[in-house]
Amino acid sequence: MEDSQSVQKLNRKLCYCSHVPVLKTSWTEGNPGRRFWGCRFNGKVDACDFFDWVDPTVQDRYKLVINGLLRKKNEAEKEKEKLSKTLRMYQFFFALVVLYVAVRVVF
Ligand SMILES: [Zn+2]
Repeated sequence: MEDSQSVQKLNRKLCYCSHVPVLKTSWTEGNPGRRFWGCRFNGKVDACDFFDWVDPTVQDRYKLVINGLLRKKNEAEKEKEKLSKTLRMYQFFFALVVLYVAVRVVF
């Protein structure tokens, strides 16, 4: 409850270019999963450099755990992509074989 109240209070702040900031999550190795307020135009030409942490500093133990899980997630996504490519290749060859057999049966 207290956390949502402090989030609402922070949400009323404006960034340096006078817009309501947006809540973002850091995924850097030093601050994995740590939320912060930033300019909604971050990454664009007109963005200001407004920045305000919402969550406290991430403890080293949690950094290790979160970064380890993120690494495993990224490895799993790469493996999934590799398997998807292999599957598409097999589907393509299967379609070629079916087409070849169909042509051989008809002619
Ligand atoms: Zn701004």
